[in-house]
Amino acid sequence: MKKKPFGNTGVDVAVIGQGTWNVSETGARANQARSAIRCGIELGMTHLDTAEMYGAGRVEELLRDVIAGFPRESLFIATKVLPSNARYAGTLAAAERSLTRMGLEYVDLYMLHWPGDHPLEETMRALERLVRDGKTRYVGVSNFDADEMIEAAGYLNDVPLACNQVLYHLNARGVEHRVIPVAREHGIAVVAYTPFGRGAFPGLKSAGGTALEAIARKHGATPRQVILAFLTRENNVFTIPKASHIEHVRENAGAADLTLDAHDVAAIDAAFPRGEPEALGML
Ligand code: NAP
Repeated sequence: MKKKPFGNTGVDVAVIGQGTWNVSETGARANQARSAIRCGIELGMTHLDTAEMYGAGRVEELLRDVIAGFPRESLFIATKVLPSNARYAGTLAAAERSLTRMGLEYVDLYMLHWPGDHPLEETMRALERLVRDGKTRYVGVSNFDADEMIEAAGYLNDVPLACNQVLYHLNARGVEHRVIPVAREHGIAVVAYTPFGRGAFPGLKSAGGTALEAIARKHGATPRQVILAFLTRENNVFTIPKASHIEHVRENAGAADLTLDAHDVAAIDAAFPRGEPEALGML
């Protein structure tokens, strides 16, 4: 699996990671999800993205069993605090609960899930404290527009803002206007969530789908691999597709080997226009 520098953190992170929202937490489907995530890790998709929100903590618990089987330093584990918990003390307490659920002493990345009502400066001070206390290696935000992202970075004194995790797929390219370029300028990684628009996308029989099929055929790849390669074509952009089926995981991992050329990018631009800048969508 190809890795690249994660913003200004100095650490290299897998270009294609694994999301965990809506992973089944019980029964046979949970076992299937565990096996799929394990397979993804073995294929190098070692960036695991979760949140205290997912399954009200049960997804973090599910991950505990999965990650226990791998050397801790081989993984890059990211989780998020809910904005409603993001006062100073609330952030520290939420992080402790996440660590306990995952059976970890530290995570690699701790993010504010989206901008909330509590003062941002207070949350960022708490995130910095978590780094000082060895509870997280890096800190980030999610669903922040470019100005909010820079404001958040400005409240950090001792550590860089590692990333902004945002909605980014072929029909939601708003972040290409400002978030991605401003993040690049400031050494901040961008993590693209919902890269497939939750699986229903794209309609492969649509005009856009046909364009993706043609590019995929040319490279001996699949349309979904083309999508992931497109989204991560900029140096500072990573992605975290969620897949609970092993065949999906294998397909997604394979995208890291694909590099698109200028013709491919132009064809995708024509089929899925970038559109006008707009407020960040949140799913
Ligand atoms: P997604 O990754 O765009 O789509 C997930 C869906 O795509 C699942 O139904 C999955 O099926 C399917 N899929 C995955 N790979 C496939 C493949 N190769 N072929 C066919 N289908 C495939 O949607 P998402 O879960 O919303 O986003 C990914 C992750 O981003 C989340 O899990 C979460 O970690 C993160 N996220 C963050 C935020 C935020 O606010 N920060 C918001 C949304 C998401 P199976 O599961 O059946 O394999």
